Amino acid sequence: MKFEDYHISFEIKKNLAKLGFKKPTDIQFKSIPPVLKGEDVLAIAQTGTGKTAAFAIPVIDILHRRKNTRRNDGIKCLVMVPTRELAQQIAEVFDKLSRHTRVKSLCIFGGVEQDPQIKSLDGDVDVLITTPGRMFDLASQGFVDLNRVEILILDEADHMLDLGFITDIRDVKRKLPRKHQTLFYSATIDEKIKKLAYSLVENPIRIQISPKDPVSKNVNHSVAYIGMDDKRFFLERLVKENEESKILIFVRTKVRAERVFKAMERVGIKSLTIHGDKDQKDRFDVMSQFKKGEVKLLIATDISARGIDIPSVEYVVNYDLPEQSENYVHRVGRTGRGREKGFAVSFCSDEEKPILKEIEEYLGRPVTVMEIKKNDYHETLDFTEDADDNWKALIIDNENFLKNQKKPNKKKKK
Ligand code: ADP
Ligand code: MG
Repeated sequence: MKFEDYHISFEIKKNLAKLGFKKPTDIQFKSIPPVLKGEDVLAIAQTGTGKTAAFAIPVIDILHRRKNTRRNDGIKCLVMVPTRELAQQIAEVFDKLSRHTRVKSLCIFGGVEQDPQIKSLDGDVDVLITTPGRMFDLASQGFVDLNRVEILILDEADHMLDLGFITDIRDVKRKLPRKHQTLFYSATIDEKIKKLAYSLVENPIRIQISPKDPVSKNVNHSVAYIGMDDKRFFLERLVKENEESKILIFVRTKVRAERVFKAMERVGIKSLTIHGDKDQKDRFDVMSQFKKGEVKLLIATDISARGIDIPSVEYVVNYDLPEQSENYVHRVGRTGRGREKGFAVSFCSDEEKPILKEIEEYLGRPVTVMEIKKNDYHETLDFTEDADDNWKALIIDNENFLKNQKKPNKKKKK
């Protein structure tokens, strides 16, 4: 079935055509009808399968038709997401899909001044896309009126329910009109969170696509065993051998992000970092530069693991393994979006092997091992242009010396 054949507003169809969306993806095919019917939905589908449009299309259609006959009277749909970048991205999708309709959306989030946001809230906003902190703040000050909300959407739902926001979300639900629709979307969910989600709604329609393998089928992912101190040399090599590729690197902490940034700088590789210590303007600037491909390497913490949709990211590198197993699925899911294919590789040190084991248990299968032959491993250490890397020069000197002495077997540096 094509979007042309759907019973949705002509304007939305035109917007879809303009975006090049001809046919719905599986999750869109399954979730659009029940949302249009007013059902509660819990939808689980792999990363990059178009979950945003799966809720945006029917919501815009409902609100556009409604506005035909009723005067504008407040926020009708509340979309809650975990990060500011994701809020902005989803707002862009709403904007694109609601062009020439009567539906207006607004995005609010923390880390920026609230006054301009309060002003924008005065207008005729139908869809409010928001991160929880700022929303609760503004609502408690009386600037966000939830009395008319008919549809509540939690994107990255498992994370939203797990963030310690559950009490706040229950509060929000209490503020909504008694009869309202609740929609949950995510690529991952576990039993505990599923129960929690069910406790918030009555008789939801559950839609689950490809439940067996949570990793997107478009992502070719593997693990490489690399010593903690050697990771930067492997990253350097990967980047230099794929100069044209956009690469997204995930690290464990903000400090690690800056450290990897410096290591790359030392070997002449330009990169950007994004993490919670940066101010919001910087965060948006960084995302925009990476999106446009002005800088091809982005080093991120898990703040960017979920939801972010950047076209043509060829590689995701887990420079450190994620501590939460489900974040493995989300991180590697930043590549292979839509119809694209992508690669992901995890650098796993000896210390991280237990984390890998947990991830594999979570995935229900082992991660393919990328074999690195001893010679290749050594070659990668030799490949670096890191001038600070005096120890390496010493080892090479030492090896040459030994070779000249008695030709020993090539020793592997640990
Ligand atoms: P998810 O939330 O499932 O991870 P997104 O909603 O971010 O996925 O969409 C992933 C990508 O797929 C986006 O770049 C989006 O533009 C594209 N996309 C979504 N729906 C369609 C469609 N029906 N046809 C073609 N591309 C689509
Ligand atoms: Mg998404």
